Amino acid sequence: MDFMLTEELKALQKKAREFAIREVLPVSGKYDESEEFPLPVIKKAWEQGLLNLGIPKKYGGLGYGLLSSCIVVEEISSACPGIATSIFDNNLGAEPILIGGNEEQKQRILSELVNTFKLIAFATSEPMMGSDVAGMKCKAEKDGDEYILNGNKFWITNGGYADYITVFATIDPEQKHKGIAAFIVDTKSEGVKLGKHIPKLGQRSSNTVSVGLKDVRIPKENVLAKPGRGFVLAMQTFAHTRPAIGAFAIGCARSAMEYSIDYAQKREAFGRLIGNYQVIQEKIANMYKDIEAARLLTYKAAWEADQGMDNNLSSSVAKAFASDVAMNVTTEAIQIFGGYGYLRTYPVEKLFRDAKLYQIYEGTSEIQRIVISRFVMKGYEHAMPFLGKKRN
Ligand SMILES: Cc1cc2nc3c(=O)[nH]c(=O)nc-3n(C[C@H](O)[C@H](O)[C@H](O)COP(=O)(O)OP(=O)(O)OC[C@H]3O[C@@H](n4cnc5c(N)ncnc54)[C@H](O)[C@@H]3O)c2cc1C
Repeated sequence: MDFMLTEELKALQKKAREFAIREVLPVSGKYDESEEFPLPVIKKAWEQGLLNLGIPKKYGGLGYGLLSSCIVVEEISSACPGIATSIFDNNLGAEPILIGGNEEQKQRILSELVNTFKLIAFATSEPMMGSDVAGMKCKAEKDGDEYILNGNKFWITNGGYADYITVFATIDPEQKHKGIAAFIVDTKSEGVKLGKHIPKLGQRSSNTVSVGLKDVRIPKENVLAKPGRGFVLAMQTFAHTRPAIGAFAIGCARSAMEYSIDYAQKREAFGRLIGNYQVIQEKIANMYKDIEAARLLTYKAAWEADQGMDNNLSSSVAKAFASDVAMNVTTEAIQIFGGYGYLRTYPVEKLFRDAKLYQIYEGTSEIQRIVISRFVMKGYEHAMPFLGKKRN
């Protein structure tokens, strides 16, 4: 085992950190206040090769593995979680094509994303369904070699600005996961209606919209997964994108910790720096140890994916753990800042609002625990002998 980053990864981390400090941090508060979409920043990320991280060299991309991507994501998120979500949503949108697309689709769409500045979003969720992906209602009706889509998608990140959306829809809601197919939808197609930005608690610079689909005709070449294959494709996509949510959360928590250390070494109470009080030191020690643990779990989940292993379990563990760490660390950061933590004067108030989303999108913390408990209760191999007879 080797816990050291290679020289190549250190250089990538440095590049991403410099971009984050130069291009993202100075505008983080402005975009949060205005809830504007940070299009110029995303474009700069594309120009610098920091968008579309996972696209293979074969299609003109940089061919980063998931571990490399997580290193970049942590840096950008530490400057602004909302802008990071906007930048890396292309990874989520393109992942189903990377995993399930045919060669022609990969050549056409992935190369286009690399060569021209285009955004691609991802849509499983609907107004009445998020966690229960197999319960989607958006209809896909076969018409010769083509499909016709009808229904509504909701909470679609970057949706208002996307050129393409990978849309999951069902041929028959009664068939649950067996009926789900996936499509590449060009948002300029007739019948696609992109909604207005929906205001949010945090990550306000990320664009969140509804997407209406009315008799949207999908040509044969944009059918990504046939009915029955779409559900598996969505789950495989999440296994590859959840480690990045871990990395988002770590970046957010890391900044909250750094601001806390800084503040604890400047603020005095009862004639002493608050950093001299053991209760504050304990809070900071807990932040550090939890961030370290979250990063190791995230790297493991990413590494497993890079080895071609099934990382469904480790990605759920990493996402669930890192999301809780981000929420706890940002909460404690506000506590360390006292009343000032509650004001918009310091950045910890924003990080606290931004952190909450990690426990919700790409599978809530409850859903991650369902994935984990299914394995632990059934698939986990005990080292110790069973107490009495093993139950079947
Ligand atoms: C800002 C934002 C951006 C998003 N971006 C996207 C996007 O780009 N594309 C996309 O497709 N979706 C996106 N989503 C949707 C997101 O994935 C869903 O909100 C999420 O999966 C939860 O679904 P829900 O909101 O319908 O909650 P529900 O599924 O209604 O769940 C409500 C509560 O019940 C719990 N719950 C549900 N089922 C169970 C169960 N079996 N056992 C125990 N508890 C359960 C949940 O954990 C949650 O606490 C986004 C959401 C947000 C807020």
